[in-house]
Amino acid sequence: MTIEGIASDSAEAALGEYDVIIIGAGPAGLSAGIYARRAGLECVILERGVPGGQVLTSPTIENYPGFPEVNGMKLMEQMADHAKRYVDIREGEEVLRVRGGDKFEIITTSGKYSCRAIILTTGGQHRKLDVPGEEGMAGKGVSYCATCDGYFYKGRDVIVVGGGNTALTDALFLKSIGCGVTVVHRRNAFRADKHLQESISQHKIPVLWDTVLDEIVGGESVNSVKLRNLKTGVTMTKPVRGVFVAVGEVPSSQLASELGLEMDQGGFVTVDKTFRTSVPFVYAAGDVTGGIRQIVAAVHGGAAAALSCFEDLMNPYYKR
Ligand code: NAP
Repeated sequence: MTIEGIASDSAEAALGEYDVIIIGAGPAGLSAGIYARRAGLECVILERGVPGGQVLTSPTIENYPGFPEVNGMKLMEQMADHAKRYVDIREGEEVLRVRGGDKFEIITTSGKYSCRAIILTTGGQHRKLDVPGEEGMAGKGVSYCATCDGYFYKGRDVIVVGGGNTALTDALFLKSIGCGVTVVHRRNAFRADKHLQESISQHKIPVLWDTVLDEIVGGESVNSVKLRNLKTGVTMTKPVRGVFVAVGEVPSSQLASELGLEMDQGGFVTVDKTFRTSVPFVYAAGDVTGGIRQIVAAVHGGAAAALSCFEDLMNPYYKR
């Protein structure tokens, strides 16, 4: 068998049989790994990048209990180190295909696994604005990660698009490193937490309300943006060197589709309160399931999914 994009010999390499395989090593996957192994399940976590997920890019987390103020990367390193005490995390190994049957078969960039159950913790990706100039200047002035790219724009004028927690956190971060930052939001109210809204006004960060970005103008790099006020129809060109897009996430649910899992209209995997999906022996947790996309919720979901998986595979005495 040859799988598109990988050599046939690596596709054939059998990498083991497990009770459960967890796909994705964000907070949900790491938590699931800890709980699955401590319940005695043979398990591995497959992660196409490095452990941590999107939290890695958060400069400061202030709402994860026990950590009043912690850098996202530091928190996730600690969480991954904790998980590694119990479970093997295969980093840089992308899952290409998943198939159901008597057992599940998982084809990765390294080979093939089989398992009795799957916990899907694949998270999400940044939503795009889909405006002219966005795709062409991605990485050349258009960014989806202020913490990763912000320093390149020190002393320069930038905009942040969005009105959620990410947008306001990004705006505060960019201001703190010396960018001239303006927030552009399509409505006249933020959905971000109140304390972030207060920080934005305390730091006198200007906000263009009821405004959308119609075009990003430039070539080799960004020169300006074309903005439009939705209430007045007035358009303006604003010279900026950076555009930070923070308009939410779309779930990474391609594997969920392959498994035939029920999903909502937004593509988020449907789970019940036990984190079982519509397909037996498949569980999902974290951002791929939508809901409140918070670390604390992902960690809960991962733990609950692992315990549901334990119940289904092991039929413990208290369920008989
Ligand atoms: P979000 O809460 O979904 O907010 C997305 C923002 O983008 C909204 O303001 C939305 O506007 C706007 N938007 C969406 N599509 C747009 C478009 N096509 N054009 C212009 N604007 C658009 O996403 P998020 O801020 O990334 O947060 C995701 C989750 O992570 C949330 O649950 C959030 O609480 C959590 N988070 C938490 C923290 C923290 O607690 N420290 C930090 C970051 C993220 P409308 O408001 O008009 O819909």
